[in-house]
Amino acid sequence: MTTLFSKIIAREIPADIVYEDEHCLAFRDINPQAPVHVLLIPKREIPKLADAAADDQALLGHLLLAAGRVARQLGVGEAFRLVVNNGAGAGQTVFHLHLHLLAGRPMHWPPG
Ligand code: AMP
Repeated sequence: MTTLFSKIIAREIPADIVYEDEHCLAFRDINPQAPVHVLLIPKREIPKLADAAADDQALLGHLLLAAGRVARQLGVGEAFRLVVNNGAGAGQTVFHLHLHLLAGRPMHWPPG
């Protein structure tokens, strides 16, 4: 199912894009929960992490490497948190797999 994130990839709706490569796109969250709050999404439509298949393995690794690269690019490479909400019960609201990259404030544990 196409979501608004696919429309961001297609430039049909605007976003503050901070990184793009062949396989993924990163843009600032519209409702930031930290001074740095970026969403990193694969261009391939995978609704949620649990839907990823064996042939997504390289793409998932690519996303993690890209997350580190984006964090360094934004000057927060030494202290950031990645969050993946999988399923409505875990707080997922947009069903296009995305990594939340959060940084720029103290990060508490356990998360809420
Ligand atoms: P989740 O709840 O994990 O599915 O995260 C979805 C995230 O998408 C939320 O943090 C929203 O604030 C964010 N979001 C929704 N619409 C947009 C948009 N148009 N541009 C940027 N971020 C968005």
